Amino acid sequence: MLTSQQDLRAQPYTTSEIDALERWVRAGGGLLVLGGRPGDAAAAADWSLNALLARFDAACTELAEPTPAGNVARLRLGDDWTVLATGDNDGPVRARRAFGQGYVQILESQAVINIRGEDTDEEKAAKRALLTETITALAAGSEPVGGSGRLPAAGGVGIFPELAKRAGNVIVYYAANQPANVRELIDRDLEPAAAQVVKWLPTVMADEPYAIVLCGGGGGGWAINPRPKAAAVIEYQPLSILGVFGHEMAHTLTGPGNDEGQIAGNIPIGNQGEAHAGWFQGKLAALFSGETDVANRNANTYTRDEEKAGRQLDLATEYETAGARENFGYGTQWTKMWYIWQKLDDRYGPTWYPRWYWVRSTRWADEPGHRETFDEMVETMSIAVGEDLFPFFNALGTSGLRERLPEATFQGQTLTLPVAPLDLSPAGPVNLEPIGDYRQPVTPR
Ligand SMILES: [Zn+2]
Repeated sequence: MLTSQQDLRAQPYTTSEIDALERWVRAGGGLLVLGGRPGDAAAAADWSLNALLARFDAACTELAEPTPAGNVARLRLGDDWTVLATGDNDGPVRARRAFGQGYVQILESQAVINIRGEDTDEEKAAKRALLTETITALAAGSEPVGGSGRLPAAGGVGIFPELAKRAGNVIVYYAANQPANVRELIDRDLEPAAAQVVKWLPTVMADEPYAIVLCGGGGGGWAINPRPKAAAVIEYQPLSILGVFGHEMAHTLTGPGNDEGQIAGNIPIGNQGEAHAGWFQGKLAALFSGETDVANRNANTYTRDEEKAGRQLDLATEYETAGARENFGYGTQWTKMWYIWQKLDDRYGPTWYPRWYWVRSTRWADEPGHRETFDEMVETMSIAVGEDLFPFFNALGTSGLRERLPEATFQGQTLTLPVAPLDLSPAGPVNLEPIGDYRQPVTPR
């Protein structure tokens, strides 16, 4: 058994989990604990990982020991432990003991066994050797269990937490160590949050429930697009959980297809890409926090601060250039995209967004795999809002675009497109209104 906790805010080990681990080691199991560093003596005393280690007469102290893997915790160990490694201050950082019929080992850090791409061959060999020695020692006296070494996987989630709550067409998987405020969120908010995202972006959902997997720890999440579709969320605070959940769910939502139910055409930035996911993350966060002026995480950075890279970005090239790849993850291009979308929400209301998806699938019905150029993307957007958005995009400094699109053909009809009177002033607050019929033209405010 391997358990790991480096984050003091992490969900605690419950007493029943600690009891189960202790019983299991006593009966002959091997337990490997990856330690972490509590900041001070009080944190060390309160830390749930130390409640687990106390059963085996050990603790991670607040004292730092410099090692090749960085500063790690000096261990406090009872007499039954054998020290396997020490830090530069001679304090123990790695140790093993027999316990009942089993064994327990504490490793100072995952870094000493986790092979990384940049490791030299010697480093890789040393990590493999340490892992092999560790597993062999912890499993001493046990029969190999046989079978495949692969983790189970269902739709992209390897391991589901043990508790489940079904609410409407959403099923939330979580563990018993989630705190009360997260339990409350599960009981009260997740189902309406999921329903709300689909209301903003109508998508044909599968018959089986949409799965939400609440993981331990903090730091983001991921989207699972194969069925059963799911969002895995790794956050502590209820509002962050909701925001990340909205983000990951949006990654799995195609939006409305054309009238045959088919999804057709791709935008250069990804129909279900990061800008799209972050847009709904911002809406959901605004809805549940009531803070609608932090528009999609400061979309207005675009106009408020000339120095921000967001203002300088040329969206037409941003997604194509090598520099964009280096900057990918800083998200300035998303910020600029959210500013644009917020300006469109201001003028047309939120229906323009699902309408844009419907228009695209309708426009490219005969060529479903079509990848739009930036020019074509702005054409499709212009058709969706019924006004010519090219002057706006040009004013934003987007290169290589046509100057005007006075007319466009859509569903065999010629549309006249007046210039959209959008200026570069700050965008308004997050628009949380319900959407209307996205098949009908939108009316500018
Ligand atoms: Zn994402």
